[in-house]
Amino acid sequence: MKATSGPVARLPYGVTPAFARLARSEDPRRDPIAAQYVPTESERVTLPYETDDPIGDTRYLVTERLVHHYTDRALLLVSDRCATYCRFCFRRHFTGHGGGRITESQLEDACTYLGGAPGIKEILLSGGDPLMLSDQELETIIGRLKKVDPRYIIRVCTRMPVFLPSRVTESLAHMLGSFDSIWAVIHADHPRELSDDLRVAVRRLLAAGIPVLDQTVLLRGINDDADTLEELFRGLVRAGVKPYYLFQGDLAAGTSHFRVTIERGIELMRELRSRLSGLALPTYAVDLPRGAGKVPIESSLLRIEEDAYVLRGPDGGEHRYPRESNQGGHP
Ligand code: SF4
Repeated sequence: MKATSGPVARLPYGVTPAFARLARSEDPRRDPIAAQYVPTESERVTLPYETDDPIGDTRYLVTERLVHHYTDRALLLVSDRCATYCRFCFRRHFTGHGGGRITESQLEDACTYLGGAPGIKEILLSGGDPLMLSDQELETIIGRLKKVDPRYIIRVCTRMPVFLPSRVTESLAHMLGSFDSIWAVIHADHPRELSDDLRVAVRRLLAAGIPVLDQTVLLRGINDDADTLEELFRGLVRAGVKPYYLFQGDLAAGTSHFRVTIERGIELMRELRSRLSGLALPTYAVDLPRGAGKVPIESSLLRIEEDAYVLRGPDGGEHRYPRESNQGGHP
């Protein structure tokens, strides 16, 4: 498999002081926090099957900002900005590309589509990071969605409790809690991210009646060992957060140095299962290439071939995820 070396994938650089303070070294080869935000030469390496849209968002775009991939839920891209840019970001086709906040007409287009799609029960607010918007902007968006269907379950997908915990103010939590059926889905990758300030942010959300889940990405050199993951998942539960997914790395351009083999992921899950209760154990999942959908790996893996893992997709068909040797160095 031939890799190409080109310009660094178009993902901006940016980090909050709060997140940078969690790093003990600026060297991404030495520190699991720095490795998440410091760009490296490894990002220049793009493998033939890597793309800027590995989970196929653009294939399922039904309006400029609405992705309708799964029958019962849709994803609304409300801002392209993040407080810190993760070097392994899987939504490189959109994140930090200058699209900015969703406009009134983009929101209206999305709501018009939703009005004609009664099968949709859940809306994920994502981007970028929805908490890059002001409280007022968020309130307008959620209010408009609830006008389409007051029963919508709304997930706010955000890394802000990790990157800038002070963004989760009492007034933000109060505003979110004024709506029914709002969930927060945060994203923590390393136990050091579970700061006192993050715990305060989570407590505010919980006190406002907003359940909090976590998604973690399995990342080479950052959290690909059982002790680190155990500490992370147990720490999340202590903070009041249910670990929801542990994601296999997506095939995003310039991110192969972060990916862990699926064999290793399964081995880690086996070890974690012997150490953690179901409460603390997330589902190990992968978004199948080319937008074939998300599946739990352990129950969907059919066989391992020399160059690919073959998994049963949500469509019942067989899908291949490349089996990589990962001989390269750490980021
Ligand atoms: S917070 Fe999410 S959308 Fe933003 S850079 Fe990180 S992975 Fe990408």
